[in-house]
Amino acid sequence: MRDSAQTINTTFKPIANLLAQSGPQLIQNKPLRKMIVKRLKKQMFEDLKTKRQEGNTVPGVDDDKTAFGLAIVNTLDRAIENRYFSDKVMRTLFDIVAKDLFLKQGENRNIAEQFRIETGSNAPTFMVISPGKACNLQCTGCYANAGIMTNEKLSWEIFDRIITEAKILWGVRFFVISGGEPMAYRSEGKDLFDMAEKHNDCFFMMYTNGTLINEKATERLAKIGNLSPAFSLEGWRERTDARRGKGVFDKVIAGMERLRKAGVPYGMSLTATCENAEEILSDEFMDYFYKEQGVIYSWIFHYMPIGRSVSLNLMPTPQQRLWMWHKSWELIREKSYFLADFWNHGTVCDGCLSAGSDTGGGYFYIDWNGTVSPCVFMPYSPVNINEAYQRGQTLNDVWKEPFFASLRDWQKTYKDGNGNWLMPCPIRDHHADLRKMIAVHQPEPSDESAREALLDLDYAAGMDHYDREYQSLSSVIWQEHYLREVGPADHSIGDLPDISRLIEKQEAI
Ligand code: SF4
Repeated sequence: MRDSAQTINTTFKPIANLLAQSGPQLIQNKPLRKMIVKRLKKQMFEDLKTKRQEGNTVPGVDDDKTAFGLAIVNTLDRAIENRYFSDKVMRTLFDIVAKDLFLKQGENRNIAEQFRIETGSNAPTFMVISPGKACNLQCTGCYANAGIMTNEKLSWEIFDRIITEAKILWGVRFFVISGGEPMAYRSEGKDLFDMAEKHNDCFFMMYTNGTLINEKATERLAKIGNLSPAFSLEGWRERTDARRGKGVFDKVIAGMERLRKAGVPYGMSLTATCENAEEILSDEFMDYFYKEQGVIYSWIFHYMPIGRSVSLNLMPTPQQRLWMWHKSWELIREKSYFLADFWNHGTVCDGCLSAGSDTGGGYFYIDWNGTVSPCVFMPYSPVNINEAYQRGQTLNDVWKEPFFASLRDWQKTYKDGNGNWLMPCPIRDHHADLRKMIAVHQPEPSDESAREALLDLDYAAGMDHYDREYQSLSSVIWQEHYLREVGPADHSIGDLPDISRLIEKQEAI
């Protein structure tokens, strides 16, 4: 298989070139934009053709990467057509997202290269940071158990140092901010917007409940131009308000309208459970948010049970998960919606990204206490950043931690063995493997639920059972669709397989 750097170069480079070379002309000159978009799509199919001729890649993975790239191009085209980006945001997209993140023309390319020379591994490409646990809402079942009363947070100095070091040591230019509610973060009288403004050579995305995006916040976001909010929703009004509080859905819609008018791009963050999976992936829901509300992107997460076995009941069932895989690719292919399903789209990013993955564009997660975990959904930590800094260490020492290294080895072995990327996740899909790594390296659970999960044998048995069930469903798709034989003359994206009989058969068992 190709490595992630090649993937970025082949699949996303044309998109980045479009942005970097054409600049604001795209907005002003529709025929030129249409011509470039057409050329860009042609280039993507040329690339698919080359991969087929080389014959050493996985056909279904190439399909997915091409379809995903096409959806991004069409999304950008639609957004520019509808004037969803202000001039300031367009400039940021050219200077940071296109040149630094995709083309790697900036200084960050040399830094990442230096890391590779020194370690033999690819540097992490982004970070997820939850600087504060405080939140203005109290949602039922909040994974962070956040609330108004808590004051747990990273100091401004540490938060700033993490970002600065990630830039200097790894060449990172993309930071995802979570929480708590990121807009509730305050330290030394400063907030997240101040941090984004200070690091104006980086692009930030924050997961937000959306209720604090008022006129003043919108003005600041428009002025900064390098911070995009992703609004968290559970589904339509009834479901969102039931979990998040009365009136929250309408506040999100009002926030979207403000941002749209100000030219600030935004997305959605959707957590799928067995109760809402069909709702959030329905055509009606997606059409409403992409077409009427101007959403640019969506991240779909599956409810991740951590704790006692009873928490497994909310997960989308294995059959629902396969349906979600199919439906999400239908939406990407047929409607060109830029959406990513964290557990179902491992094919796009070369598998699991946790622990600063060497195989894909890896990352680390740092929470309000300074706990460094492989991933937001894997609450086991061998190191605390506050303590590491007190010992005179840096993020490079964090990267070297044996628990993280063992995960990177696992990812590499999985990739080299053509492992099924429909189930790429060590904690969700290969829980027994993760338990072995935890037993060897003894990382600290980040909270009580994570500790309980290690002690509850029924929880472990439930996760293993889920893994086996999904393995039996998804391996058929992996073998027959992804690893299918294609001839060098086959230059098209393969049709999605019909999964209805597979699901019926599994349900009968
Ligand atoms: S551990 Fe799972 S959720 Fe986290 S990055 Fe890897 S695949 Fe995704």
